[in-house]
Amino acid sequence: NRTEPFDFVIFGATGDLTRRKLLPAFLRRFHAREFDQEARIICTARSELNTEQFRNLCSATLHEFAPDIAKDTETLNQFLGLLTYVYLDATEEGPHWQELSATLPDAERTRVFYFATAPALYSAICAGVSQHNLITQHTRVVLEKPIGTDLQSANEINEGVGRYFSEDAIYRIDHYLGKEGVQNILALRFANPALEQLWSSEAIAHVQITAAETVGVGDRGSYYDKSGALRDMVQNHLLQVLCMVAMDAPASLRADDLRNEKLKVLNALRPMTPDMVRKNVIRGQYTAGRVKGEDVPGYVEDLKTGRPSDTETFVAIRTKIRTARWGNTPFYLRTGKRLATKTTEIVIQFRPQVWPIFTNMPSPGRLVIRIAPHEELSLVLAARDPGAGGFRVRNATLHMSYENEFAVQYQDSYERLLLDAVRGDPALFIRRDEVEASWKWVEPILDSWRYALTPLEPYPAGSWGPATTRALLARDGALWHEDMLT
Ligand code: NAP
Repeated sequence: NRTEPFDFVIFGATGDLTRRKLLPAFLRRFHAREFDQEARIICTARSELNTEQFRNLCSATLHEFAPDIAKDTETLNQFLGLLTYVYLDATEEGPHWQELSATLPDAERTRVFYFATAPALYSAICAGVSQHNLITQHTRVVLEKPIGTDLQSANEINEGVGRYFSEDAIYRIDHYLGKEGVQNILALRFANPALEQLWSSEAIAHVQITAAETVGVGDRGSYYDKSGALRDMVQNHLLQVLCMVAMDAPASLRADDLRNEKLKVLNALRPMTPDMVRKNVIRGQYTAGRVKGEDVPGYVEDLKTGRPSDTETFVAIRTKIRTARWGNTPFYLRTGKRLATKTTEIVIQFRPQVWPIFTNMPSPGRLVIRIAPHEELSLVLAARDPGAGGFRVRNATLHMSYENEFAVQYQDSYERLLLDAVRGDPALFIRRDEVEASWKWVEPILDSWRYALTPLEPYPAGSWGPATTRALLARDGALWHEDMLT
């Protein structure tokens, strides 16, 4: 499964994303021999470094973020040998563009430009690579999130990049799609016809999609405070997961077949009017509390600006998908920082027995697809309890852990996505119309918030969000997953 030789240019190579994600992912795939010493990774940023200094920095970074591989000195040194550093300020004309050009002598090789900088620089980088004739027939460009902060800014970014690259050369990354557990939703649904038979409002009472973190904003406060949970998590990751859960079977696994089906789901989401936002969206911000036995400060203290903030660190949404398949099934999306447990999971709650013949009934069955921290599937069923006397039933769980069942290949979703971009497989990247459809749905929520129609509710760190989050489900007679377990 080795790739052809390629040139991979990272813009923003001294940044946090490159250090923590991109370089460790490349090292792991190099170690797995998915590419060899013919590959070139050209790293650019504004820091004044030469290649040797940059390699030394990377060596320290890789010891920190991929220690199991970096301790193999021979592999590490071979990998560092693939890296070249070029000083480059994307906003300035100058000899550095010629230096970059000199590192790319071969127009026939696959060339990937990876934009790991603030999106405000994307246009300038595109203009620079175009003016210096660096865009070949074999060039692709990978865009990091966020693609905009609303529909208009997303359009501006897409237009800006689209002036230089055709849509099929633009790879918009959503690292959730690279997660094994998210991709397995396709296998689970479309390789198990029996399950797919149940996959509609007829058998499914509701669906919960939760991405809960225990960490606060850490040192990303200045970015996060301008973004908030809705833009940072819902517009991209949670809506993509929702699409994977709700879409119809694609004609094939080809990129556009998948994306067409996802787009239909996004377009079928019930539009949010101000009144709907008021009734169906909860926004919260964490205050001081206890997480995993430790006292932690509130969001405003974490920001260290000394000013209050009305940015949400939690959001929960109740929505519906207006299709024949899903019309009667509410979908609940929830994400937040400083919550009780770290988990990313999907709960498919089956409907209860219409006419129960047993004297007691445990909760109706559910399927739990856990994506993080471990990839797991749990099917909760009712079973006769042999110890209870009479004919009593209780819940029992069938469980599958990915780690136990399979040799999991990728530690991090970037490992897969970087090489998909090199190989030219866009199936796990987002098409422009998906980005726009997501923003169209999210924007009325942002507008309502701007006019303060939804209060920002405090919640203590270590809880499951504002108390009203429970009421959002109670209206449908439903419970959040953690409440089913107590
Ligand atoms: P960062 O740590 O602030 O790094 C930004 C990079 O851009 C640095 O290498 C910086 O180089 C370079 N840069 C800044 N101005 C430049 C210019 N005029 N010309 C050329 N290079 C310039 O940011 P980051 O956290 O790595 O994030 C990068 C992108 O990925 C952002 O779009 C972010 O939203 C996205 N993202 C990040 C994460 C994450 O975990 N960090 C996760 C998802 C998405 P110098 O410092 O050398 O000037």
